[in-house]
Amino acid sequence: MTAPARARARRAAPAPASALAAPAQAPVPHTQAVPLPGPEPPLPPLPRPEPLAELPIVILYPHSRCNCRCLMCDIWRDTAKRELGAAEVTRWVGEWRRLGVRQVVLSGGEALLHSDLWTICEGLRQAGISITLLSTGLLLSRDAARVARYCAEVIVSLDGPEAVHDRIRNLPRAYQKLAAGVAALRAQAPATAPVPSSTPALPITGRCTVQRLNFRHLRATAAAARELGLDRLSFLAADVSTDAFNRPQPWEPGRVAEVALAAAELPELAAELDALERERPDDFASGFLAETPDKLRRRLYDYYAALRGQGDFPANRCNAPWVSTVIEADGTVRPCFFQPPLGNLRQAESLAAVLDSPRARAWRRGLDVATDPICRKCVCTLAWETSAGMPAGAPATAPPHTAETRT
Ligand code: SF4
Ligand code: SF4
Repeated sequence: MTAPARARARRAAPAPASALAAPAQAPVPHTQAVPLPGPEPPLPPLPRPEPLAELPIVILYPHSRCNCRCLMCDIWRDTAKRELGAAEVTRWVGEWRRLGVRQVVLSGGEALLHSDLWTICEGLRQAGISITLLSTGLLLSRDAARVARYCAEVIVSLDGPEAVHDRIRNLPRAYQKLAAGVAALRAQAPATAPVPSSTPALPITGRCTVQRLNFRHLRATAAAARELGLDRLSFLAADVSTDAFNRPQPWEPGRVAEVALAAAELPELAAELDALERERPDDFASGFLAETPDKLRRRLYDYYAALRGQGDFPANRCNAPWVSTVIEADGTVRPCFFQPPLGNLRQAESLAAVLDSPRARAWRRGLDVATDPICRKCVCTLAWETSAGMPAGAPATAPPHTAETRT
């Protein structure tokens, strides 16, 4: 495998050195990150303002449970039903707006299982905060009208063509339900479009976590995404190293082996990636396939090879802890999906108090993404290069971090 040039990130103005409590910016419509052609200049360091200058992205787990039973995930094994109350989230939203939150990504678990999600969404809408929904797709048909009303983007999990998807989801007819949900949403979305536009009123994109059960089906997954009528598809590797996603502790080697590719399978992955590049050039060129072929090789092949001791993990460029946070269904606040908690919002009643605490500042000061053992194996980073002052509608680096969470 080659070690190709990095994809060029879209960039905007650097962050001003304002305090975390800076006034909120106008909400920025979610934009698609389209790979740009051409050679890559060296990328500058990402902003790491301290104290935090603003917090563009909050990833919120409204509900702890999930309606899938995916083989590579432990979230569904937790039968305790935890959720953030609509009243408490609505109470917190005022502060989030003052902190400059522009986008809340509903993740989990399955956010659509929440008992009063639409009150939360209404509070976010009234605060001018854009909503992205990460979903299994199983409930999209039921909730299509309200999803279309409140969400600026929907990201669904797609694990492969129908049989592969259903096997990994561990549910019969999961693909069919997803297809029906996407169709129902499509039927709603045109009515919600504020003005005629060349872009969809409601982008519906797909996310595929590549692992042992589907790595031979990348081309078929791209075809399935087309068949479903998705606007874009991205691929990411499976996290097998951390205690994220409800794991009481990192997986034992046997569990890792169920999900991570074996050394003997790596040539097959390389061949499938080559075939994907060869057979779907238009999908790469148009950005329908979100990553470049070279980026896929780094993020998939190099990652799984490194897990088998063959080479280094791909270098990560990330400033997630400085521009985003994760709030779990019990109020736990993390700097990203994978790093340890910084506090609890239910106890602190102030996100700024958690993120600007001496403990949080000290943790961020000590984090070196290039060498941190969790960061080195991270499968979903966030490189946020925009900041306050960015005009509404300007291209932003799409939050791959959020987009690549599991659902
Ligand atoms: S690289 Fe991954 S683990 Fe490290 S800070 Fe970024 S998102 Fe978190
Ligand atoms: S991977 Fe996503 S959809 Fe599957 S069980 Fe976990 S949270 Fe649910």
